[in-house]
Amino acid sequence: MTARRLTGAPVAQRLRAETEDNVTALRHRGVVPGLAVVVATDNEATLWYVRSIARAADRAGVHCTVVDLGADAGEDELASTLALLSADEDVHGIILQTPLPPGVDGDGLVSRISAAKDVDGANPLSLGRLTVGQDAFAPATARAVVEILEHYEVPLAGRHVSVVGRSAVVGKPLLQLLLQRDATVTVCHSRSRPLERYTSEAEIVVAAVGRPGLVTGEHVRSGAVVVDVGTNVLDDGDLVGDVEPVSTTEVAAALTPVPGGVGTVTTALLVLHTTQAALRLSHELAATRTPATGAVL
Ligand code: NAP
Repeated sequence: MTARRLTGAPVAQRLRAETEDNVTALRHRGVVPGLAVVVATDNEATLWYVRSIARAADRAGVHCTVVDLGADAGEDELASTLALLSADEDVHGIILQTPLPPGVDGDGLVSRISAAKDVDGANPLSLGRLTVGQDAFAPATARAVVEILEHYEVPLAGRHVSVVGRSAVVGKPLLQLLLQRDATVTVCHSRSRPLERYTSEAEIVVAAVGRPGLVTGEHVRSGAVVVDVGTNVLDDGDLVGDVEPVSTTEVAAALTPVPGGVGTVTTALLVLHTTQAALRLSHELAATRTPATGAVL
């Protein structure tokens, strides 16, 4: 068997069309959607990722500001930046990019992102709302996995999905998104031993760990669909996923590539979420103004 490549490009293309409609609707209201990405690292792979978000935003007509505070930024500076951006009417989406400088409390900082502008679902309020089925932005990467599976018409209801990785940005929100779609989900982590015991039963395997080649053909059953979330930069600069593609392709029915899979869709979703936040916020703002004077009540 040779697995089908489930590329992210057609999925991102559909999301970009939705974004375009939103940008047009916002323009009619005199609103330019704005995204702010707060960065405090000199990690080259992270900076490359941030630049790719900024490029995708600009192409879509979303104004993207990268607030680079430098690798030695302090917690107070980061907190006050997030508070300012949360209050800024021209900013509709905020991303606090990880990694953060050592010693900085990232969990505390993400709570400073206004829930209405939390386009990457980082604030624990967003994950809580997602868990109880209330309206919230899901972390873009977790949603990207579901968007890819739905685009390629991989059924989820009644299927067994094994998610490897339980982080707050991928594994945990993905569990919620899959449960909402009536999948049966096993979430694995570093203490799940042996890993293949939990992955080889599943019809769908999602790898979100950050270890090249962790999932091989021996971990998946024949005909499984495998989604590779991992992004690992090797010493020679190559970008690879968590799934060893050669052995997995021989067993699986389908596999997402790295690069060109989940990451492509994640970026498109961040931009789409920003336009959705802008639509909601501009609608709320308009509702607080009197029709006659435009004054804020
Ligand atoms: P993370 O916070 O470091 O979490 C990694 C998870 O993997 C943890 O739950 C950890 O278990 C688990 N794990 C570690 N070793 C394991 C093992 N040997 N067997 C099974 N599970 C193991 O990472 P993350 O932020 O979720 O990111 C995961 C990967 O996705 C990274 O490669 C990252 O670069 C990539 N990523 C990609 C995108 C994208 O857009 N494509 C976006 C975000 C992240 P414990 O909880 O027990 O420690």
